[in-house]
Amino acid sequence: MPEPNHAPYQDDLLETQPPNFTAKEVKDIANRLYGLTGKLSPLDSERDQNFRIKTKTGNQFVIKIANNAETPAMIDMQIKALEHITQTNPDLSVPEVLFSRNGLAIEQVQAQNGAKHGFRILTYLPGIPPKDDPTELALLRPMGASLAQLAQSLRGFFHSGANYELLWDLKHTSKLRQYLPHITDANHHELASYFLDRFDQNVLPQIPKLRAQILHNDLTPDNIIVAENDPGCIVGMIDFGDMTHTLLIIDLATTIAQMLRGHADLLGVAVEIIAGYHEINPLEDAELRILYDLIAARLTMLNVIAAWRVTLHPENREYITGGVEETWRTLEAWRALDPADITKKFFRTCGLWEMDEATSSQKNSNETLKSHLKRRDHLLGPCAYLFYERPLHIVRGEGVWLYDVDGNRYLDAYNNVAHVGHSHPHVANAIAKQSRKLNTSTRYMHGLILELADQITKGMPEPLSVCMFVCTGSEANELAWQMSQLASGNSGALITKYAYHGSSAATMQFSPESISQKNLPRHVQTIFAPTSDTTFRKPDSGINNAITALGEQGHQPAMLLLDTSFVSDGIYTSPKDYLSILYTKTRAAGGFSIADEVQGGFGRLGQHFWGFQFDDVIPDIVTMGKPMGNGHPLAAVVTRPEIAEVIANKTGYFNTFGGNPVSCAAGLAVLEVIEKEGLQQNALEVGQYLKERLTVLQKDYPVIGEKHGSGLLQGIDMIKPGGASDPKLADRLMNNMRENGVLVGTTGPNYATLKIRPPIVFQKEHADTLLDALTKALDELTSIKA
Ligand code: PMP
Repeated sequence: MPEPNHAPYQDDLLETQPPNFTAKEVKDIANRLYGLTGKLSPLDSERDQNFRIKTKTGNQFVIKIANNAETPAMIDMQIKALEHITQTNPDLSVPEVLFSRNGLAIEQVQAQNGAKHGFRILTYLPGIPPKDDPTELALLRPMGASLAQLAQSLRGFFHSGANYELLWDLKHTSKLRQYLPHITDANHHELASYFLDRFDQNVLPQIPKLRAQILHNDLTPDNIIVAENDPGCIVGMIDFGDMTHTLLIIDLATTIAQMLRGHADLLGVAVEIIAGYHEINPLEDAELRILYDLIAARLTMLNVIAAWRVTLHPENREYITGGVEETWRTLEAWRALDPADITKKFFRTCGLWEMDEATSSQKNSNETLKSHLKRRDHLLGPCAYLFYERPLHIVRGEGVWLYDVDGNRYLDAYNNVAHVGHSHPHVANAIAKQSRKLNTSTRYMHGLILELADQITKGMPEPLSVCMFVCTGSEANELAWQMSQLASGNSGALITKYAYHGSSAATMQFSPESISQKNLPRHVQTIFAPTSDTTFRKPDSGINNAITALGEQGHQPAMLLLDTSFVSDGIYTSPKDYLSILYTKTRAAGGFSIADEVQGGFGRLGQHFWGFQFDDVIPDIVTMGKPMGNGHPLAAVVTRPEIAEVIANKTGYFNTFGGNPVSCAAGLAVLEVIEKEGLQQNALEVGQYLKERLTVLQKDYPVIGEKHGSGLLQGIDMIKPGGASDPKLADRLMNNMRENGVLVGTTGPNYATLKIRPPIVFQKEHADTLLDALTKALDELTSIKA
């Protein structure tokens, strides 16, 4: 057999023979240096020499004589770690170090051959070793829990002695390859190689990214003490000799692998230990993803090292090869399991119900896309319509970026719901934190709802002081409609020509964008949005005509409902006097003026926090939703106390989910982020920059018509030569940009307007990316250049 060509380990710990002091020598040292006398009995050890000493008074201690490859720094680390554990978690029972007569925790003693060894004495922990019974399941969860507690107590511990290379540290699994020649059985050789390959492929690249600290690295049933009367109660943890700085997950994998051996239900054992661990020290996705391979690596390591060591210490063959056959069988059984399935079960054990789809092996091939679409059609029905000719399968979002199932990244210039950025950590944490504490309805007093209502109404002009919470924009507008009808006694509604205000029965009737103008019921009449066309910019005659038309149908206006950013009309903000004229005329006819801020609210428009502030008006009712919870369903209606009073007296209002503490936590977090990150100002500045660059671009591309909107809500009209709108071009541009990684939408009377409405953390560099993609698309799709 070729001599293994192993890399030089700093200390060649596994090669150096254990010390070989005689019992008499040890007794003498214990007496001379510690004043300790008693009966000595040897204890097993891989590379040290250990004894138990029992004094006349019945006290017991462990004497440890270190292998001389173990440096003083390593021993000092172990001693300091024990002190640290006792300090940080006094409930954990670990040995205490006895100080010598010289006041030292570690003495240097010399063997007959002249070699120096560290000599220390530790307290012997009461209790018994666990039963060596592989069917003993009571220990599994406690084992995971103890390991987690130990890791937690060591979290802040550092020692330069941890900086050494120990082959028993799974980080170095790849180094086992050099010892493979010692495995003579071809099947075993193949099995070990298989798992070493998997390690190199799946684990090695992840190592630099994972949590690491100084850890026990060998907490096995051999290294614990249990209560005499309770086999599941761990009362002590011992043997810190493999302690090193390694990955947190390696500590767990090591324990699991050691405990799996001999069990029929391998997965059952693993998940029990994981559950015990995760409850105390939550694991991360990236750690769970490599756990299957790390467990296999440890089993492989046990046998590869055994095969090698037996050549070094043939006299110890029996001890070294004790569990080898069982370990091969376990490893073979482990290979028979499906790693993806096992990993999924690990995730479930930790309450992570789905693995991140982006990392699942299923890629979005045409086949999987087709089958996904088919299932969607079958399960969700024909209304679940998707964006883009080639629909997107998005699995992750961060800031202004969205990631699809294949890992492709898209600049999101479309989604206003993720107002402060996709998956904003402050909002996500606020939601998670509150949902762990409490979630109930507004039928109980709670501080958060008051705080959010206070924050929202503070930014509104007097007398808009009452805030009622609902879950969607549709519900908010529905409630506003009920209020207006009840408070005015009227039954008519005024909206813009291409408005969208919701999907409920009532609000759908205020949504010609969905039901088309010709299907509007008689109690709904329309006016034009403030487009630049001069014939439309006569709000007084427009509203007069609409009120007259309502009257002809037997209705007086109960409300004027306007999206203050006019998104479905093409994206506009109110010019001076537009809203004020409409409000005045509506009020004169007995109706209420409602500002629908579902699209434009919360700072997106830059210049103002709310869209109605573009004119000098105070609405009677303000509705809001979409961005309010950054994706969490949260919406509200703000009004005057006397209007709220009317609905309270006539029907009352209760919304099961509206205003629950989790939603309120989300809403408050969104407001905090807007303020702390200066996002309204950002929307103003980046919006301005975008407009300026578009103006420059327009000079080269006559297909770009008017640009309108404000801040980070902008519309760009696409026109044909002669000025007619060009919805086909807008659609093709949108799809072309999607293929090039930038997401925009279309809107307007016939969808000829490109809709740019990104999360408002959008920066100038993102605007540049957007414009580059638009320019490329224009170049590819249009031949006419100025
Ligand atoms: N009002 C406006 C102006 C909207 O744009 C929308 C949604 N697009 C709604 C109301 C309805 O909101 P939701 O979808 O949350 O019911």
